This record gives sequence, structure tokens and C-alpha cells, in this order.
Amino acid sequence: MFKTLLKAFTAAALATYAFAAQASVLQPVKVTDNIYALVGPLGQRDAANAGDNATFGAIVTPDGVILIDSGATKAGAELIETTLKTVTPKPVRWVINTGSQDHRWLGNATFAAQGAKIIALDSTVKVQQANAAKELQGLKMLLGETAAGTTPMSSPDPLPGDEAKLTLGGIDLELRRFGNGHFPGDAVVWLPKQRIAFSGDLVFADRLLGVLDNGSRVDQWAQTFKTFAATLKPEIIVPGHGKPCSLAQAQAQTGDYLDWLVREVKPAAQNMDDLEKTVQRVHAATPEAFRKLDNFEGIDKKNINRAYLEFQ
Ligand SMILES: [Zn+2]
Repeated sequence: MFKTLLKAFTAAALATYAFAAQASVLQPVKVTDNIYALVGPLGQRDAANAGDNATFGAIVTPDGVILIDSGATKAGAELIETTLKTVTPKPVRWVINTGSQDHRWLGNATFAAQGAKIIALDSTVKVQQANAAKELQGLKMLLGETAAGTTPMSSPDPLPGDEAKLTLGGIDLELRRFGNGHFPGDAVVWLPKQRIAFSGDLVFADRLLGVLDNGSRVDQWAQTFKTFAATLKPEIIVPGHGKPCSLAQAQAQTGDYLDWLVREVKPAAQNMDDLEKTVQRVHAATPEAFRKLDNFEGIDKKNINRAYLEFQ
């Protein structure tokens, strides 16, 4: 009897521990009533975070959950599910993709299999489909077996144009694209009544953003950030990476860094200054405000290098 009890207790304790360990990868942060950010780690993708080194959003409506972005892998989608269960018993009815980087959409198939509708702009879906194989290959390299079972699945009926108004579960929202961002086709989910923007990878908070070779240029991203900020003037931003923040913080940690890269690197590239010397010089002069951001040491030089090549 005692042994059976002990066994049951141990199993329950282990299950609780496994649940806690899994759930702790994504921290649920309440933004306002029924609106949450699921904040992932700021560092690299690895097996423990299943590629979810990013921030996701959830809106709990009477009819079910609107999930903003679905995780990088099947395992990453399951991490989101586990974390959501700590804030609501309701199922995910809608998944909105703000972008085409792995963690924005490669978990779609998991939620679609449970009956969720996948929603995205046509311009986002085009970039997702063009990049799917490359994104998956990168995940397999970094995550190994943890990436297994991940099947790319975009919205089967993407929305045309750069702006869509939707009402889901009684919540009015807009899906809007302001131009090329971290990737081409990046979009924002906007709640006009609450003045909350789920910015996807358009905004990085708490960590340094990364400039990638993917068809979007750093000066385009800088302009898109300006248009987004001036058009919406959000009160709260749930960023693509980092904790929910103010527009002022997004300006300081994303807008200002993009502007600084353009200002410092564009003239050097147009002047055909030596690339390596430019990288060393600009990196050495990077303002303290950016140096204190997570991942600064690993990414700043790569960003300067990438920006130079774009401006060449
Ligand atoms: Zn991202």
C-alpha cells in the first residue's frame, strides 16, 4: 500500500517537475486582462527551447485563444501549448503569423491539426514558402532530433494586400504590413481599442537585433519601424524578442540601432572603405546603449558587416 502510494507520488512529482521544466522555457507575462506575452529566452536556438528563442502573444476570448505566432518546431508549438495551459483552459482557435522566420510559423501544423485556423497576409506567406527549406535545415543543425516532425504549413487562404481587419472571438484586430522588416513580408497585429501591437520581428527588446541576408535591407527596416511607430503610436508593444515594452524602449533598442547602423555604415560602403577596417572602427564606437543589450558581442560585428554589403 505504502509502496504503491510512494510510486504514485513519485510519478506525480516527476510529471510536475517535467511540466515545470518545460513550461519555464516560455514565461507567460500578463499584458492586460486576457492578453499575454509568452516570453522565450534571448539567446540562441537550442534543444531546450526547441527554437522558441522568441516572444509570442495570446489573446484569450470567450470563443477561444488567438495565438500570435506558433513556434519554430513541432516541439516548440508544444512548448507554447504547455505554457498557454498555465493561463487558460481554452483551446487555440486562431493562429496569426506576423512573419516568416522559423519561430513565427513552423509550429502552425500542430495547431491546425487541433482545428485552429491559420491566418497570414499573402506577402508573409510568399516569404514563408520561399524560405521553408532553409529555415528547417538551420533548425536541424542547431536542434538535432528536437526539430523532428516539423512540417511547414502556411495559411491555406492568405489575406491579400497590406491591411486586414478581423474580428475574432469578439476582439477587433488588424493585421498590417508597413514594409520590409527583419524579413520581407513582416507584419504586425494591432489591437486598436487596447492600443497594443504584437510587432513580431519588427521590434527586438532587451537583446540586440540581427541583420540577415534575406532580401530585406537594414535601411528598409529602419524606415518600416518609423512608419509603424508614427502610424500606430502603440501604448504597449509585445515584441518579437524580449519582454513587453513601451514605444520609447522599442525606439531606443530597435529604431535607434537601425538608424545608427545606416548612418555609420552607409557612407563607408559608398566610399568603398575597407570592409574589415570599417567593421572594427564602427564596432569599437558602438554606443553604450546598444552594448548593454543581450547578444551584443556575438552580433554587432556581423550586423555592421551585413549592412556594409547591403549598401555596397
Ligand atoms: Zn525572430
